[in-house]
Amino acid sequence: MNITINDKDFEPFIEHHLIEKRTRLIGIQINLEYEKRVPVFIGVLNGSFMFMADLMKEVNVSCETTFVKLASYHGGTASSGNITEELSIAMNIKNRDIIIVEDIIDTGRTLSFLLEKIKALEPASIKIATLLLKPDALTFDVGEIDYVGFEIANDFVVGYGLDYDGLGRNLKDIYRLYVG
Ligand code: 5GP
Ligand code: MG
Ligand code: MG
Repeated sequence: MNITINDKDFEPFIEHHLIEKRTRLIGIQINLEYEKRVPVFIGVLNGSFMFMADLMKEVNVSCETTFVKLASYHGGTASSGNITEELSIAMNIKNRDIIIVEDIIDTGRTLSFLLEKIKALEPASIKIATLLLKPDALTFDVGEIDYVGFEIANDFVVGYGLDYDGLGRNLKDIYRLYVG
């Protein structure tokens, strides 16, 4: 069933059980690859909080978790272009194995900004896990995206951590903008 958030209608897109299934598979992959290491998961707030929580429950290797807060959208459905760091990484990650956890990679601007920041802190390795990827929108060089939940078209989506004007992050499923 379609839902309305403020002035816009959204249609059901990715059901929670499918998100769970993909998240479980990404967790299994991470467990195999990090068996002998203690990775640091860096969740990118706000959007990644739900994916981060569910992914962490699938991870059974010893690990640490922390967050960084970046913002590129300031309301609406199009990126503003300038990124602000509202909360910086509060731990020493030198020589650590980093897994960045993102909700969605659109143009890649946010991620390329974050990658520069993290590289400057001299970690041993960096991998990227994102729930959603819009391959056709990717214009910034972010290298390889190691773990991807779903590749989607260039549609605006909400739910499962993702917002429209601050609303909809609590939705269990993912919805996309309904264009009639
Ligand atoms: P990028 O910097 O890759 O262009 O955009 C990344 C950020 O823009 C995401 O972390 C997210 O906050 C926001 N964003 C990009 N596409 C969408 C979308 O379809 N829906 C929502 N709610 N946010 C998006
Ligand atoms: Mg994000
Ligand atoms: Mg947002």
